[in-house]
Amino acid sequence: MSRLITCFILLVYALPQQALAENLLVYSSRKEQLIKPLFELYEKQTGHTISYITKSAKPLMQRLKAEGKHSPADLLITVDAGNLGFAAMEGLLSKIDSAALIDNVPAYLRDPEQRWYGLSMRARTIVYNTETVHKNELKSYEDLADPKWKGRLCLRTSKKVYNHSLIAMLVNRHGVKKTEEIVKGWVKNLANEPYSSDIRTMMAIVVGQCDVAIVNSYYFGRLMKQQPQIPLALFWPSGDNRGVHVNVSGAGVTQNAPHRKEAIKLLEWLSGEQAQHLFAKLNMEYPVNPRVEASDIVKSWGTFTADQSNLASAARLQSYAIRLIERAGYR
Ligand code: FE
Repeated sequence: MSRLITCFILLVYALPQQALAENLLVYSSRKEQLIKPLFELYEKQTGHTISYITKSAKPLMQRLKAEGKHSPADLLITVDAGNLGFAAMEGLLSKIDSAALIDNVPAYLRDPEQRWYGLSMRARTIVYNTETVHKNELKSYEDLADPKWKGRLCLRTSKKVYNHSLIAMLVNRHGVKKTEEIVKGWVKNLANEPYSSDIRTMMAIVVGQCDVAIVNSYYFGRLMKQQPQIPLALFWPSGDNRGVHVNVSGAGVTQNAPHRKEAIKLLEWLSGEQAQHLFAKLNMEYPVNPRVEASDIVKSWGTFTADQSNLASAARLQSYAIRLIERAGYR
Protein backbone atom coordinates (compact mmCIF):
# COMPACT_ATOMS: atom_id res chain seq x y z
CA MET A 1 0.00 0.00 0.00
CA SER A 2 2.70 2.46 1.03
CA ARG A 3 4.50 1.69 -2.24
CA LEU A 4 1.31 2.58 -4.09
CA ILE A 5 1.08 5.89 -2.25
CA THR A 6 4.72 6.68 -3.06
CA CYS A 7 4.02 5.90 -6.69
CA PHE A 8 1.01 8.18 -6.66
CA ILE A 9 2.96 11.03 -5.07
CA LEU A 10 5.78 10.62 -7.59
CA LEU A 11 3.29 10.69 -10.42
CA VAL A 12 1.64 13.86 -9.14
CA TYR A 13 5.00 15.62 -8.92
CA ALA A 14 6.25 14.30 -12.21
CA LEU A 15 3.19 15.18 -14.27
CA PRO A 16 3.19 18.98 -14.27
CA GLN A 17 6.89 19.14 -15.20
CA GLN A 18 6.35 16.75 -18.04
CA ALA A 19 3.45 18.84 -19.26
CA LEU A 20 5.52 22.03 -19.14
CA ALA A 21 8.46 20.79 -21.19
CA GLU A 22 7.85 21.80 -24.78
CA ASN A 23 9.56 20.93 -28.01
CA LEU A 24 10.16 24.12 -29.98
CA LEU A 25 10.91 24.11 -33.69
CA VAL A 26 13.12 26.81 -35.18
CA TYR A 27 13.62 27.54 -38.88
CA SER A 28 17.05 29.11 -39.22
CA SER A 29 19.04 30.51 -42.11
CA ARG A 30 21.92 30.88 -39.67
CA LYS A 31 24.24 27.91 -39.82
CA GLU A 32 24.03 25.16 -37.21
CA GLN A 33 27.32 26.04 -35.50
CA LEU A 34 26.05 29.57 -34.80
CA ILE A 35 22.82 28.50 -33.06
CA LYS A 36 23.44 25.05 -31.57
CA PRO A 37 25.55 26.14 -28.57
CA LEU A 38 22.85 28.66 -27.58
CA PHE A 39 20.02 26.17 -27.92
CA GLU A 40 21.94 23.64 -25.83
CA LEU A 41 22.36 26.20 -23.07
CA TYR A 42 18.66 27.08 -23.20
CA GLU A 43 17.66 23.42 -23.08
CA LYS A 44 19.86 22.87 -20.04
CA GLN A 45 18.36 25.84 -18.22
CA THR A 46 14.70 25.30 -19.04
CA GLY A 47 14.14 21.60 -19.74
CA HIS A 48 12.57 22.44 -23.10
CA THR A 49 13.97 20.94 -26.25
CA ILE A 50 14.68 22.82 -29.44
CA SER A 51 14.71 21.23 -32.88
CA TYR A 52 15.82 23.22 -35.87
CA ILE A 53 15.97 23.16 -39.63
CA THR A 54 18.69 25.18 -41.33
CA LYS A 55 18.41 26.32 -44.95
CA SER A 56 18.94 29.58 -46.77
CA ALA A 57 16.44 32.36 -46.15
CA LYS A 58 14.35 32.13 -49.32
CA PRO A 59 13.46 28.40 -49.21
CA LEU A 60 12.70 28.69 -45.49
CA MET A 61 10.27 31.52 -46.09
CA GLN A 62 8.68 29.71 -49.03
CA ARG A 63 8.23 26.69 -46.81
CA LEU A 64 6.62 28.73 -44.02
CA LYS A 65 4.29 30.29 -46.53
CA ALA A 66 3.31 26.96 -48.08
CA GLU A 67 2.69 25.39 -44.67
CA GLY A 68 0.41 28.27 -43.70
CA LYS A 69 -1.76 27.63 -40.66
CA HIS A 70 -0.37 24.12 -40.25
CA SER A 71 3.28 25.14 -39.99
CA PRO A 72 5.07 23.38 -37.13
CA ALA A 73 7.65 26.20 -36.87
CA ASP A 74 7.71 28.48 -33.83
CA LEU A 75 10.56 30.84 -34.63
CA LEU A 76 12.26 32.12 -37.79
CA ILE A 77 15.89 33.16 -37.47
CA THR A 78 17.53 34.82 -40.45
CA VAL A 79 20.03 37.50 -41.40
CA ASP A 80 19.58 41.00 -42.79
CA ALA A 81 16.74 43.41 -42.14
CA GLY A 82 15.88 43.02 -45.84
CA ASN A 83 14.98 39.35 -45.26
CA LEU A 84 13.36 39.93 -41.87
CA GLY A 85 11.28 42.76 -43.28
CA PHE A 86 10.27 40.63 -46.25
CA ALA A 87 9.12 37.82 -43.94
CA ALA A 88 7.09 40.35 -41.97
CA MET A 89 5.53 41.85 -45.10
CA GLU A 90 4.59 38.35 -46.28
CA GLY A 91 2.66 37.86 -43.05
CA LEU A 92 4.95 35.08 -41.80
CA LEU A 93 5.75 36.74 -38.47
CA SER A 94 3.47 37.83 -35.67
CA LYS A 95 3.47 40.95 -33.54
CA ILE A 96 4.98 40.50 -30.09
CA ASP A 97 4.39 42.75 -27.11
CA SER A 98 7.35 42.19 -24.84
CA ALA A 99 8.84 44.65 -22.38
CA ALA A 100 12.02 42.55 -22.22
CA LEU A 101 12.58 42.73 -25.99
CA ILE A 102 11.89 46.48 -26.07
CA ASP A 103 14.38 46.89 -23.24
CA ASN A 104 17.08 44.62 -24.70
CA VAL A 105 17.02 45.59 -28.38
CA PRO A 106 17.58 49.26 -29.38
CA ALA A 107 14.68 50.72 -31.39
CA TYR A 108 16.64 51.10 -34.64
CA LEU A 109 17.50 47.38 -34.66
CA ARG A 110 13.92 46.09 -34.44
CA ASP A 111 10.71 46.31 -36.42
CA PRO A 112 8.57 49.31 -35.34
CA GLU A 113 5.60 46.96 -35.76
CA GLN A 114 7.25 44.44 -33.41
CA ARG A 115 7.32 41.49 -35.81
CA TRP A 116 11.11 40.98 -35.80
CA TYR A 117 13.99 41.80 -33.48
CA GLY A 118 17.71 42.09 -34.17
CA LEU A 119 19.82 39.62 -32.16
CA SER A 120 23.32 40.42 -33.38
CA MET A 121 24.71 43.41 -35.21
CA ARG A 122 27.24 43.54 -38.03
CA ALA A 123 28.74 46.56 -39.76
CA ARG A 124 28.97 46.76 -43.55
CA THR A 125 31.90 49.07 -43.80
CA ILE A 126 34.99 50.01 -45.78
CA VAL A 127 38.05 47.75 -45.80
CA TYR A 128 41.37 48.93 -47.21
CA ASN A 129 44.94 47.92 -47.94
CA THR A 130 47.06 49.51 -45.20
CA GLU A 131 50.12 49.50 -47.47
CA THR A 132 48.57 51.40 -50.38
CA VAL A 133 45.95 53.58 -48.68
CA HIS A 134 46.35 56.01 -45.80
CA LYS A 135 43.41 56.16 -43.41
CA ASN A 136 43.13 59.92 -43.98
CA GLU A 137 42.32 59.34 -47.66
CA LEU A 138 39.10 57.58 -46.69
CA LYS A 139 35.90 59.41 -45.85
CA SER A 140 32.63 57.66 -46.57
CA TYR A 141 30.65 55.25 -48.76
CA GLU A 142 29.68 58.29 -50.83
CA ASP A 143 33.32 59.30 -51.34
CA LEU A 144 34.13 55.91 -52.94
CA ALA A 145 32.30 57.32 -55.99
CA ASP A 146 34.98 60.02 -56.35
CA PRO A 147 37.22 59.65 -59.44
CA LYS A 148 40.26 59.51 -57.14
CA TRP A 149 39.30 55.85 -56.52
CA LYS A 150 39.17 54.97 -60.24
CA GLY A 151 40.37 51.41 -60.79
CA ARG A 152 40.92 50.97 -57.04
CA LEU A 153 37.50 49.78 -55.79
CA CYS A 154 36.27 46.19 -55.47
CA LEU A 155 32.67 45.21 -54.68
CA ARG A 156 30.70 42.07 -54.03
CA THR A 157 27.92 41.24 -56.48
CA SER A 158 24.87 43.50 -56.26
CA LYS A 159 22.66 40.40 -56.08
CA LYS A 160 23.40 39.91 -52.38
CA VAL A 161 20.79 41.22 -49.93
CA TYR A 162 23.59 42.88 -47.90
CA ASN A 163 24.19 45.28 -50.79
CA HIS A 164 20.47 45.81 -51.41
CA SER A 165 20.13 46.86 -47.76
CA LEU A 166 23.23 49.06 -47.80
CA ILE A 167 21.97 50.87 -50.89
CA ALA A 168 18.41 51.05 -49.51
CA MET A 169 19.82 52.80 -46.43
CA LEU A 170 21.71 55.21 -48.71
CA VAL A 171 18.37 55.93 -50.43
CA ASN A 172 16.98 56.62 -46.97
CA ARG A 173 19.79 59.15 -46.45
CA HIS A 174 19.97 60.84 -49.83
CA GLY A 175 16.92 59.88 -51.90
CA VAL A 176 16.92 57.81 -55.09
CA LYS A 177 18.52 60.32 -57.46
CA LYS A 178 21.63 61.09 -55.43
CA THR A 179 22.09 57.45 -54.45
CA GLU A 180 21.96 56.44 -58.11
CA GLU A 181 24.77 58.93 -58.82
CA ILE A 182 26.81 57.42 -55.98
CA VAL A 183 26.34 53.86 -57.22
CA LYS A 184 27.17 54.92 -60.80
CA GLY A 185 30.36 56.43 -59.41
CA TRP A 186 31.21 53.15 -57.67
CA VAL A 187 30.67 51.22 -60.91
CA LYS A 188 32.98 53.64 -62.77
CA ASN A 189 35.67 53.09 -60.14
CA LEU A 190 35.54 49.28 -60.15
CA ALA A 191 38.88 47.56 -60.72
CA ASN A 192 37.15 44.31 -61.68
CA GLU A 193 33.77 42.63 -62.14
CA PRO A 194 32.02 42.24 -58.76
CA TYR A 195 32.95 39.17 -56.68
CA SER A 196 30.72 36.39 -55.42
CA SER A 197 31.57 36.81 -51.71
CA ASP A 198 32.97 39.30 -49.20
CA ILE A 199 36.00 37.04 -48.63
CA ARG A 200 36.82 36.96 -52.36
CA THR A 201 36.40 40.72 -52.49
CA MET A 202 38.96 41.16 -49.70
CA MET A 203 41.33 38.65 -51.31
CA ALA A 204 41.27 40.83 -54.44
CA ILE A 205 42.70 43.64 -52.29
CA VAL A 206 45.32 41.30 -50.84
CA VAL A 207 46.57 40.22 -54.28
CA GLY A 208 46.74 43.82 -55.48
CA GLN A 209 43.71 43.99 -57.78
CA CYS A 210 42.26 46.96 -55.86
CA ASP A 211 42.78 49.02 -52.68
CA VAL A 212 39.35 49.46 -51.07
CA ALA A 213 36.09 47.54 -50.75
CA ILE A 214 32.89 47.33 -48.72
CA VAL A 215 32.37 44.21 -46.57
CA ASN A 216 30.65 42.86 -43.47
CA SER A 217 32.79 43.13 -40.35
CA TYR A 218 32.62 39.43 -39.40
CA TYR A 219 34.03 38.33 -42.78
CA PHE A 220 36.97 40.62 -42.11
CA GLY A 221 37.27 38.90 -38.71
CA ARG A 222 37.19 35.45 -40.30
CA LEU A 223 39.85 36.27 -42.88
CA MET A 224 42.17 37.96 -40.36
CA LYS A 225 41.88 34.95 -38.07
CA GLN A 226 43.10 32.68 -40.86
CA GLN A 227 45.74 35.07 -42.19
CA PRO A 228 46.70 37.61 -39.50
CA GLN A 229 49.63 38.93 -41.53
CA ILE A 230 47.63 40.36 -44.45
CA PRO A 231 47.65 44.18 -44.72
CA LEU A 232 43.92 44.89 -44.29
CA ALA A 233 42.07 47.16 -41.87
CA LEU A 234 38.49 48.32 -41.40
CA PHE A 235 37.63 51.99 -41.78
CA TRP A 236 34.66 53.51 -39.94
CA PRO A 237 32.91 56.34 -41.84
CA SER A 238 31.73 59.03 -39.42
CA GLY A 239 30.75 62.68 -39.14
CA ASP A 240 28.31 64.41 -41.44
CA ASN A 241 27.65 61.30 -43.53
CA ARG A 242 25.68 59.71 -40.65
CA GLY A 243 28.05 56.91 -39.75
CA VAL A 244 28.41 53.25 -40.42
CA HIS A 245 25.74 51.11 -42.07
CA VAL A 246 24.90 48.31 -39.66
CA ASN A 247 22.58 45.38 -40.14
CA VAL A 248 21.41 42.48 -38.01
CA SER A 249 20.75 38.83 -37.75
CA GLY A 250 17.41 38.52 -36.05
CA ALA A 251 14.27 36.56 -35.42
CA GLY A 252 10.52 36.64 -35.15
CA VAL A 253 7.84 34.35 -33.79
CA THR A 254 5.93 32.78 -36.66
CA GLN A 255 2.33 33.71 -37.39
CA ASN A 256 1.01 30.25 -36.49
CA ALA A 257 3.55 29.17 -33.87
CA PRO A 258 2.21 26.08 -32.06
CA HIS A 259 4.16 27.10 -28.93
CA ARG A 260 3.82 30.86 -29.12
CA LYS A 261 4.34 31.66 -25.43
CA GLU A 262 7.46 29.55 -25.17
CA ALA A 263 8.78 30.91 -28.48
CA ILE A 264 8.51 34.46 -27.12
CA LYS A 265 10.41 33.36 -24.00
CA LEU A 266 13.19 31.90 -26.15
CA LEU A 267 13.41 35.10 -28.18
CA GLU A 268 13.55 37.17 -24.97
CA TRP A 269 16.27 34.91 -23.62
CA LEU A 270 18.30 35.28 -26.84
CA SER A 271 18.21 39.07 -26.42
CA GLY A 272 19.20 38.86 -22.75
CA GLU A 273 22.58 39.49 -21.20
CA GLN A 274 23.58 35.87 -20.83
CA ALA A 275 22.88 34.77 -24.40
CA GLN A 276 23.96 37.96 -26.14
CA HIS A 277 27.69 37.67 -25.54
CA LEU A 278 27.78 34.14 -26.93
CA PHE A 279 25.35 34.90 -29.78
CA ALA A 280 27.60 37.73 -31.01
CA LYS A 281 30.90 35.99 -30.27
CA LEU A 282 30.08 32.86 -32.30
CA ASN A 283 30.13 34.88 -35.54
CA MET A 284 32.42 37.76 -34.46
CA GLU A 285 29.49 40.19 -34.39
CA TYR A 286 28.31 42.92 -32.01
CA PRO A 287 25.69 42.22 -29.34
CA VAL A 288 22.52 44.25 -29.92
CA ASN A 289 21.93 44.49 -26.18
CA PRO A 290 23.74 47.68 -25.11
CA ARG A 291 24.54 46.22 -21.69
CA VAL A 292 26.65 43.47 -23.23
CA GLU A 293 30.23 43.93 -24.41
CA ALA A 294 31.59 42.64 -27.70
CA SER A 295 34.34 40.01 -27.68
CA ASP A 296 37.99 41.16 -27.45
CA ILE A 297 38.70 40.45 -31.12
CA VAL A 298 35.71 42.49 -32.27
CA LYS A 299 36.62 45.31 -29.87
CA SER A 300 40.15 45.38 -31.31
CA TRP A 301 38.75 46.67 -34.64
CA GLY A 302 37.96 50.03 -33.00
CA THR A 303 34.81 51.91 -32.12
CA PHE A 304 32.36 53.56 -34.50
CA THR A 305 29.13 55.47 -34.70
CA ALA A 306 26.36 53.44 -36.26
CA ASP A 307 23.78 54.97 -38.59
CA GLN A 308 20.81 54.77 -36.24
CA SER A 309 18.09 55.10 -38.86
CA ASN A 310 15.55 52.32 -38.29
CA LEU A 311 16.56 49.21 -40.23
CA ALA A 312 12.97 48.63 -41.29
CA SER A 313 13.81 51.14 -44.04
CA ALA A 314 16.19 48.60 -45.56
CA ALA A 315 13.17 46.40 -46.31
CA ARG A 316 10.82 49.27 -47.17
CA LEU A 317 13.23 50.77 -49.73
CA GLN A 318 14.57 47.47 -51.07
CA SER A 319 12.69 47.62 -54.37
CA TYR A 320 13.94 51.18 -55.02
CA ALA A 321 17.47 49.98 -54.34
CA ILE A 322 17.18 47.01 -56.70
CA ARG A 323 15.86 49.11 -59.60
CA LEU A 324 18.47 51.80 -59.02
CA ILE A 325 21.25 49.18 -58.97
CA GLU A 326 20.11 47.95 -62.39
CA ARG A 327 19.98 51.45 -63.84
CA ALA A 328 23.47 52.16 -62.50
CA GLY A 329 24.83 49.04 -64.21
CA TYR A 330 26.08 47.51 -60.93
CA ARG A 331 26.11 43.77 -61.57
FE1 FE B 1 27.04 36.64 -44.19
